[in-house]
Amino acid sequence: MPSQSDKISTNTLPTGLGEGTGWSRDRLVLQTYSHDLWPRKLLELRERGPAEPTVDLVVWPETPSQVQALVRWADTADVDLIPYGAGSGVCGATIPSGSMPRPRVMVDLKRLKRVRSLDRESMTVWAEAGIIGENLERHLNQEGLTLGHFPSSIYCSSLGGYLATRSAGQLSTKYGKIEDMVLALETVLPNGELVITGRAPRSAMGPDWTQLLLGSEGTLGVFTAACLQVHPLPEHREFLGFGTADVNQAMAFTRTLMQQGIRPAVMRIYDKIETSLTIPSERLGTGFSGGCAIVTVFEGTQAMAAVEASEARRIADSMEVSYLGPTLGTHWWEHRYDVSYKQQLILSHDRLMLDTFEIAATWDRLSHVYEAVKGVNLGFGVMLAHFSHFYHTGANIYFTLASHSGLKASTVEHYDQVWESILGAAMEAGATLSHHHGVGVQKSAWLPKEKGAFIQIYEKVKRGFDPQNRFNPGKMGL
Ligand SMILES: Cc1cc2nc3c(=O)[nH]c(=O)nc-3n(C[C@H](O)[C@H](O)[C@H](O)COP(=O)(O)OP(=O)(O)OC[C@H]3O[C@@H](n4cnc5c(N)ncnc54)[C@H](O)[C@@H]3O)c2cc1C
Repeated sequence: MPSQSDKISTNTLPTGLGEGTGWSRDRLVLQTYSHDLWPRKLLELRERGPAEPTVDLVVWPETPSQVQALVRWADTADVDLIPYGAGSGVCGATIPSGSMPRPRVMVDLKRLKRVRSLDRESMTVWAEAGIIGENLERHLNQEGLTLGHFPSSIYCSSLGGYLATRSAGQLSTKYGKIEDMVLALETVLPNGELVITGRAPRSAMGPDWTQLLLGSEGTLGVFTAACLQVHPLPEHREFLGFGTADVNQAMAFTRTLMQQGIRPAVMRIYDKIETSLTIPSERLGTGFSGGCAIVTVFEGTQAMAAVEASEARRIADSMEVSYLGPTLGTHWWEHRYDVSYKQQLILSHDRLMLDTFEIAATWDRLSHVYEAVKGVNLGFGVMLAHFSHFYHTGANIYFTLASHSGLKASTVEHYDQVWESILGAAMEAGATLSHHHGVGVQKSAWLPKEKGAFIQIYEKVKRGFDPQNRFNPGKMGL
């Protein structure tokens, strides 16, 4: 679609949003905001070169009232709005789509970055939605507290993005996903009204509006702040590595831990291929006789962490799971954000695609889902898998796939075929198609397949919130 920048009358923008600092339509800025970190978009860029920007204006509001004014302005200016956190999404959720031929305005929220208040009695914090995860965590650490939310992208992703995509951090098995941490959302609705969704840890006053808005990926409004639960910084950590003969034994062991009420902060099963390709034998130690490595980290008070760790060892012994000592865990901890940077190496090769696929299933289906996805033919490729978020009733699986497009004319086309196959296999085997990356453009067409009749209800909900379909249109299977 040709640029519609000129159709936007910027002199009518709300007070405080001036050129340069409050808004921009510089071509390079528009191009940068026209994609997030969805690997398909990066492949397109590699294969076809830079495309025309699909965004017409970027704005940087600084306060919730500026967001409200902006939302009201959007109606008079007849533009679409796409909330933008830090652009670290990997499914194209901020990429404009949909058939409405209106100019597209990207609302970058990073200037809403204040930590507003801390309540030590209730152990809650109010923070603005544009704050970068790492900055929020550092602020809390200075107060002796932690949020417990550590996505691998913590340095380049925002609170608003976590809320809008139902993000999961590396310590989610103890602290929960973001949806388990939120008490209330401050949100500007598409009519410009500012609402706060909750006021207590739980409520039986009708449906839960917080949970409806979480995961809405910018389609139902703009989050300006959230109230989140916080925890004391852990006094102590115990690092324990384990080894199992195969992935089924690893699943049985981790399921037993979870169902006995043990809550490691970190628990990660690496399947045989991921173990052999990513963990050197000296780190596994002499106790490892091949198969799958498991990393666990227990944290909290000294006594609690020690009890949980010793229970885990007792259960391991009873299940003939070998104990591998602390090195696996300490090494993982020290390098817990490293993996992200290796992807660039593969992506820099012309004919290679690389992506990750994170699903979840209940324990009764987990093994079947694992086998079904691993069974997909990638052509010249390799698929690694680890399990990194655990629940009483199931777990997630995080697949990393690298594949060569072979004789196909286009790597983008190859990428699409691979995705069709893995999504189909996971769906057929009974998984949910995303545990924490969200829907975006990537899985939009698959949402109706997973949600069935609920998608029609969601369409009505969307119309109720946003009758003009102005907020991130063309997403969520609509
Ligand atoms: C290297 C790497 C590692 C990653 N690791 C993890 C991980 O461990 N766990 C995980 O969950 N994800 C991970 N991700 C994915 C990504 O970081 C998350 O999806 C994150 O939540 C996106 O945050 P963001 O601020 O960058 O959002 P964006 O990409 O800017 O936006 C994502 C969606 O949220 C909406 N949105 C953003 N802000 C708001 C707001 N204030 N109000 C309403 N809607 C809003 C956007 O419209 C869009 O639909 C990773 C990504 C990368 C590149």
